[in-house]
Order: sequence, then structure tokens, then C-alpha cells
Amino acid sequence: MNTKNLTTAILFAMILGAILGGIFNQFFMDHSFVSEFLVGNVFHVIGAIFVSSLKMLVVPLVFVSLVCGVAALGDINKLGRLGGKALLFYLATTAIAITIALSIATIAAPGQGFEISSTNIQTFIPKESPSLADTIINLVPTNPIEAMAKGEMLPLILFSLLLGIAIVMAGDAGKRIEQQFNDYNDIIMQLVMILMKLAPIGIFSLIAKTFALQGFDVIKPLLSYFMVVVSALIIHALIVYPLLLKSLSGLSISTFLRKMRSVQIFAFSTASSNATIPFNIQNTEKKLGVDNSVASFTIPLGATINMDGTAIMQGVATVFIANVYGIDLAISDYLLVILTATLASIGTAGVPGVGLIMLAMVLNQVGLPVEGIALIIGVDRLLDMIRTAVNVTGDATATVVIAKSEGALDTKIYNN
Ligand code: ASP
Repeated sequence: MNTKNLTTAILFAMILGAILGGIFNQFFMDHSFVSEFLVGNVFHVIGAIFVSSLKMLVVPLVFVSLVCGVAALGDINKLGRLGGKALLFYLATTAIAITIALSIATIAAPGQGFEISSTNIQTFIPKESPSLADTIINLVPTNPIEAMAKGEMLPLILFSLLLGIAIVMAGDAGKRIEQQFNDYNDIIMQLVMILMKLAPIGIFSLIAKTFALQGFDVIKPLLSYFMVVVSALIIHALIVYPLLLKSLSGLSISTFLRKMRSVQIFAFSTASSNATIPFNIQNTEKKLGVDNSVASFTIPLGATINMDGTAIMQGVATVFIANVYGIDLAISDYLLVILTATLASIGTAGVPGVGLIMLAMVLNQVGLPVEGIALIIGVDRLLDMIRTAVNVTGDATATVVIAKSEGALDTKIYNN
């Protein structure tokens, strides 16, 4: 199957999964054949295997591809510039995202007149979020193999960067090892291709299961909150990113959006930026023409620290919870939310549902009741899927813009 057919198949799988899941949810969930056998076993097992196999690729791919990327750069100054640009882009877009979210939420005022009894309140037990000092110390792995085994992204990124730098500095020995890493990289990319061919089945199962279990009824009592989050996500993905792309790189917006579609569906169905890393790297390199030396660095980094969609949810949730509890937020509170949510985005791991845990930190900062999170848990899975698609789009936008500015983007491939 060529990549165009694959994208069509993935899109088709998602739509079919959503329709079938929706029908199951409305009419058939009291039949045990559907709820237990199909949804609980068949879709669940296939979907879980698909997500596991994506995750299986993340550590080897990030490690090998990043070492190759740094070695190919061959220049530590270039690496520093790349890192600086990526950090600036990621932090700035997150701050823009949350400002948009707070502005829309303030105008639309979701949660005013909200009846707490009208929704299924679920219990929410906040987990301790790590302190800033620990986060910084933990960047350096005491044991790189342990960091890999635990799938800790930032320590893995740091170790791979250092190894790549050492390879550049090691002369002939470095050249020999670089060649080997390049070979490994080609092989792992083949592995990604193999898995991509199975993606339509995996995506169909994941989406069908989620829609069968969730349905749309959960949204009704929280419609205003849901709609405000989705509107801010759409504005960010379809206006802010495209404007940045056009103004900073001059590249075609429609080409970018078209070529991002299948990556977004991956992110949507897995609700995990991390699990989407292999596909996002492959897509930015093979379809958008970005050189491996940039994509191998900015995509895993973005999946770990850049969560614009998550920041949007956190901004709207803060205003919503304040409205429900009748607490007024001052301008200084809004500024604090922008700052904390931007920092929280760095600490949010790219896995399902973590954005909600980090929301506790934001609420604490402005003195809002953390229990408020229980109000929005019910719709969070669906929102998580949508915001993850925005998160990975942000990573790809940054990658394309930075690659263009570094002369590391092949416009022929991009426009093809
Ligand atoms: N699921 C999101 C991601 O992986 C993180 C979150 O908002 O919970 O990007």
C-alpha cells in the first residue's frame, strides 16, 4: 500500500470505527455479545496491541534517530541553535494557546449556572505532581538503560544528544559508529513502515471501543465547557499554526494540513503524543521533507514538553471551575494561569489523561478547589483525543518552521 492509500485507509478506519462505536453505544450495549465480546475483548485486545506496538518503537527510534541526527549535524553550535529555537517556539505557542483559551472562556463563561447535580460526579484523587527541582535533576539519567526501560523521554533525549556529540568529537572511531547507527536507523524506519500497514485495523478498534463506551450523552451536561475547549483547539490548530507556518517559513498551509491528517488521526485514536512519535518523525521526514537531523530532535522533544492542546483544556477548565464555584479570578490570577499552564505543559508526559493530573497544579496556584476536576472527568477522554491531535500538530509545525530556517527542508518533497 502506498502512503496515499494508507492515509485514506486510516481516515476510513476512523470514520467507520466512530460510526460503529456510536451505533453500539446507542442500541447494543446491553447485548453481551457486543459489550463483552466485541467491545470488551476483540476491539480492546486489537487496540491495546496496536498501542503497545507503537510504544515498542518509541525508545529505539528516538535513541537511534537522535544519535544519527546529532552526528549528522556535526556541529555543537548548530545543535544549540536548534535547541534554542525549539524551546522558544514551544513555549511561545503554548502561551498563545492558553491566552486564546482564557479569552474565549472569559467571554463564553462556561459553568455559570451549572447544576452540580446534573452531571455524574466521579471521584478524583489528585496525584502528587513532581517539584520543579526534581524535574530538573531528573533530566540527567543516573542510568541510561534504566531511563530507556522506563521510557523516560527527557533523560533519554539528553543521553542520546550527548552520545551524538561524543560521536562527532571522536574522529575515526566516531565515523565508524555513526555509519552503524545510520544502518540501524534505516532498519527501524522499516519497522515503522511495517506497523503503519496495520494501523487501519488498530485505529478502527481503538475508535470503535472508545465511542461504544463513551457515547455522546456524557457531553450534554458539560456542553458549554466542551464546546469552548473544542473551539479554542480548532482556532489554535487551524489559524495560529497555519499563520505561524506561513509567516515564518512561507510554505503552503494546505499542503501541511493535508499531509498531517494521518498523524492527527494517530494522535486522536491513541490520545498519546508519545505513541505518535514514530509516525510523526516518519511523516515529517518522508512527506514534509524535513531532514532527520532536525525531526529526530524536535519531534520527541515536542512530544515531551510541548502540549498546546493540553494547556487550552487547562485554561478553560480553570475558568469553568471558578464559575461553578462562584469564585472570581483577578487579572493576576489569569497571568498566573498562563505561567503555570505553560510550565505544566513541559511537565506533562505525552500519555493519555496526564493533562488532567497537571491541572491540579494549575488550580492550586490560583487557589481553586482541586475537587473541581471531578466535574470534567466525564468528558475528558474525548477532549484528550482532540487535544493530543493538536499537540502533535504543534510539534510538526515547529519542526517544519525550524527546518526551513536551518536550510534542512527539502521543498520538493514538501510540495510533492
Ligand atoms: N494525552 C496528551 C498527550 O499525549 C496529554 C494530556 O493532555 O493528557 O499529548
